[in-house]
Amino acid sequence: MVFDIIEEHGSHEQIVVCHNKDIGLKAYIAIHNTTLGPALGGTRMWTYNNDEEALVDVLRLSKGMTYKAAAAGLNLGGGKAVIIGDPKKEKTEAMFRAFGRFVNSLNGKYITAEDVGTTVKDMEYVFMETPYVTGIPKDFGGSGDPSPYTAHGVLMGIKASCKEKFGTDELKGVRVTVQGLGNVGHNLCEYLHQEGAILTVADIDKERVKRVQEKLGAKVTDPNTIVTEETDVFAPCALGAIVNDDTIGNLKCKVIAGGANNILKEHRHGDALMEMGILYAPDYVANAGGLMNVFVELEGYSPDRAFEKTRQVYHNLLKVFEIAKRDNIPTYKAADRLAEERIHTIGRLNQQHNGKSTRPYTTLREVLKR
Ligand code: NAD
Repeated sequence: MVFDIIEEHGSHEQIVVCHNKDIGLKAYIAIHNTTLGPALGGTRMWTYNNDEEALVDVLRLSKGMTYKAAAAGLNLGGGKAVIIGDPKKEKTEAMFRAFGRFVNSLNGKYITAEDVGTTVKDMEYVFMETPYVTGIPKDFGGSGDPSPYTAHGVLMGIKASCKEKFGTDELKGVRVTVQGLGNVGHNLCEYLHQEGAILTVADIDKERVKRVQEKLGAKVTDPNTIVTEETDVFAPCALGAIVNDDTIGNLKCKVIAGGANNILKEHRHGDALMEMGILYAPDYVANAGGLMNVFVELEGYSPDRAFEKTRQVYHNLLKVFEIAKRDNIPTYKAADRLAEERIHTIGRLNQQHNGKSTRPYTTLREVLKR
């Protein structure tokens, strides 16, 4: 059964089962593809109903990271880890240190980070056992909170989408509706305000709404109806699956570009957006700024360089739109194609130029030695 599940979810390079009965550690690490570099992806801790559910999640998420890194133009592959357990009740130092030892045994083929259910504190324990961890506190040379970088990348994504849709990336006077004013949404609103965009916002947290309303003069709308607000750009920065059967028929935007993951409930919703003439900036391309920030941490962190790097989102999205037009396909498919083409081309180059390696990554330790 395990192999059937693995086969069903594509061709992963390696799957590691991490188990320590005494400590209560049950985890999977999945390395999807390392053609472009070491597999980077966070460690999720979740109360999965069973081992199968956890395996499916790690396979799916690690593949997603391969595509995200490749489309972002980073020399990283895709990986992910999941720890089975309740993040509120079952965390211990020993658990994360044991997990760190499993990560270390992969010698840099997989680099981890925090994710849903894990925190920077947990990563400090992992860091005690392995250097192959990112998103560690600033005191340890880490990059800290990725959200401002994600938000700046999203701003670049909105600009590229406007260039494509309206012929200009000037945001002055453009109506942008932001759903969710958390770490990403709030920072995004600040950037949009600086650009002169006309902001409409909503959040279920009234304090967050008040902050943006008072500071940036944003118009506030109902969280239950924001998705169908008439606007130029809809920027989802809260929930996934926001484009679904219930919302799609009522959308009154021209562009969808935001920070949220998995904006399309199903692929067919991306096909429908194309038919409706709504330009969709594929989520994993638009929200890659956080990953770019972490990548800079591997090279020796500089906030300025990380900020500069997030500008690349603009060019990556223009490439996606170009492929969509070239092949007459929806943009979500074009994003996958951009990633696959890059992996294919660079993979071939690796073979041609050093004759042996299909995995020419530099480990974190080697990078840090430079
Ligand atoms: P967050 O938890 O800080 O903010 C989410 C906000 O959405 C909260 O303020 C919450 O109250 C609000 N919200 C929840 N339900 C809502 C609803 N129905 N209507 C309106 N608002 C609602 O999270 P974040 O870090 O800002 O991330 C936002 C999204 O971006 C998530 O989908 C996340 O996976 C994705 N993302 C984040 C990063 C990052 O660097 N933080 C990177 C990539 C992707």
